[in-house]
Amino acid sequence: MGLLKYKVAIVTGGSRGIGEAIAKKFAANGADIAFTYLSSEEKAKAVEEELAAMGVRAKAYKSDAASMEDSEKLINDVMAEFGRIDICVNNAGISKDNLLLRMGEDQWSQVIQTNLNSVYNMTKQVIRPMMKARSGSIINMSSIIGIRGNAGQSSYAASKAGIIGFTKSIAAEVGSRNIRCNAIAPGFIETDMTQYLKEGEGAQGYLSRIPLGRFGSPEEVANVALFLASELSSYITGQVVCTCGGLNM
Ligand code: NAP
Repeated sequence: MGLLKYKVAIVTGGSRGIGEAIAKKFAANGADIAFTYLSSEEKAKAVEEELAAMGVRAKAYKSDAASMEDSEKLINDVMAEFGRIDICVNNAGISKDNLLLRMGEDQWSQVIQTNLNSVYNMTKQVIRPMMKARSGSIINMSSIIGIRGNAGQSSYAASKAGIIGFTKSIAAEVGSRNIRCNAIAPGFIETDMTQYLKEGEGAQGYLSRIPLGRFGSPEEVANVALFLASELSSYITGQVVCTCGGLNM
């Protein structure tokens, strides 16, 4: 299936977890892939090789999504290397959970900077080439926690709720230029980020609240990203697609 043939996609945080699954799903559908990582260089190189072996152009970039300077350089470098950018997946994210009374300012700022400012940085930079091309799909990784909230996750919830407001505003701003902007709100997906939840004592409690009765896989989120990136969703913008086994009901 070549739903993304001749397209170029940027995926932030593509070295592991959901971002890696999205990069591979897009490559399997014919897209050339530029993806970023922050610290796991070896893993990023391995993913780059796997993508190239799928017959597409692929390149890993060390780039901090929380930095506007890095984001500007990244978009310039990818435009120089690939010539166009059709799809941008703002996936990079972290969590630093703590109850509010124990949450230091640096913990709060790091999460907001990495999860929310990164979406502003990347979208601001990628919107220029997309406006010139009068075409594009931007996909922002929110979370069910940004909709429901969760004790001990106020910074993470605030960053992910912020992404939803940002997504809807940008969809309204650039819709007339044929650029779509949507968000995905995953529930509990099995990655490094949620390993502690799965292994912790509360795992059964989380599972009992999910109608489908299990955690999701990165590939199940990648399938939604593929839909939002492709022409299959050509009349969808400003939406939040919950991918959470029914946890949002
Ligand atoms: P993960 O396994 O921890 O992977 C995070 C990825 O983001 C890695 O590739 C990491 O790069 C990259 N990254 C982190 N900070 C970065 C920065 N400042 N600049 C560039 N890249 C950076 O996380 P995940 O579970 O796949 O989560 C991916 C996204 O989905 C996040 O936004 C997360 O909040 C969201 N999400 C996840 C779940 C879940 O259940 N897993 C649920 C809802 C939403 P390195 O490898 O170099 O560290």
